Amino acid sequence: MRDAQCSLLLESFLHELHSKYKSCTEGTVANYIPELSKVNPELFSICIATVEGEIYQVGDYNELFTIQSISKVFVYGLALEDRGRDYFLTKVGVEPTGDAFNSIVLDEVSKRPYNPMVNAGAIATTSLIKGTGVTERLNRMLDMFRRYTGHNVFVDISVFTSERVTGHRNRAMAHLMLNFGTIDQSIDETLDLYFQQCAVMVNCHDLAVMAATLANKGINPVTGEQAIDSCYIKDILSVMYTCGMYNFAGEWAYKVGIPAKSGISGGIIAVIPNVMGIGVFSPPLDLRANSVRGVKVCEELSQKFGLHLFDCSRQKLQFCN
Ligand code: GLU
Repeated sequence: MRDAQCSLLLESFLHELHSKYKSCTEGTVANYIPELSKVNPELFSICIATVEGEIYQVGDYNELFTIQSISKVFVYGLALEDRGRDYFLTKVGVEPTGDAFNSIVLDEVSKRPYNPMVNAGAIATTSLIKGTGVTERLNRMLDMFRRYTGHNVFVDISVFTSERVTGHRNRAMAHLMLNFGTIDQSIDETLDLYFQQCAVMVNCHDLAVMAATLANKGINPVTGEQAIDSCYIKDILSVMYTCGMYNFAGEWAYKVGIPAKSGISGGIIAVIPNVMGIGVFSPPLDLRANSVRGVKVCEELSQKFGLHLFDCSRQKLQFCN
């Protein structure tokens, strides 16, 4: 356990980061899903959940927003459980693209999407979720999110509908993959599921607990429930590390050095294995679609506590006893 002094240090550093970046006005909120453009750009929260289940949070951590691309991490885990690693790899690769998340590109030879974190790969991943019909498949996904957050979650119908009627690019990708036999005929059902998983409502506290569950061998540290088979944690964290931050993933891995995933609603999760999960929420995005404040906060947390996975100079994380 952390001693009182360490807890205080962590708590006060989160407050320091929050006040430092609260006034930052860089970035713009996503507007390509029309409903997302209505969000208040000033919302800002940071939350840390440790693998012991301790929570440190500051700002608007109860504010709900749609999870968007961060859902890809968790649905990837469910698809691995449903289909197994070997079969999954025949459908979706694990190679970073260096391209934007919504680029319409498949591997030239295999016709697979490059990885489960870009939209094409995520749609193919969703198509692999088992269940009889769309309702059972959606319910299995919602139950999976319940295990990670520790409570029932809901789909925001306005955001879901907004993306459903404007998501032509995602629809085009699904058709391209159908053309190559990467996904099956049930395109409309798969796209509905995909848009619904992106429209699941969470808050910043949830993000941190979900990340901490990945840090804690798949066991939710608050409820004690196993959310995913621990044998798939390394698959998930490897892909987050190499592909999680859009076309900033390489620089992120180099500078911050933590497996992470961001979403266009302004959330970021970061996982420090066996230690803690970090959640940050702030809607304005930079040019690569990552939350401006979220990136700055994670950079500073990584530096302050020596979180970079390959930092040899760290003996032990400084706030851990
Ligand atoms: N629902 C969004 C899409 O598919 C998610 C994008 C994101 O968060 O990166 O385009």
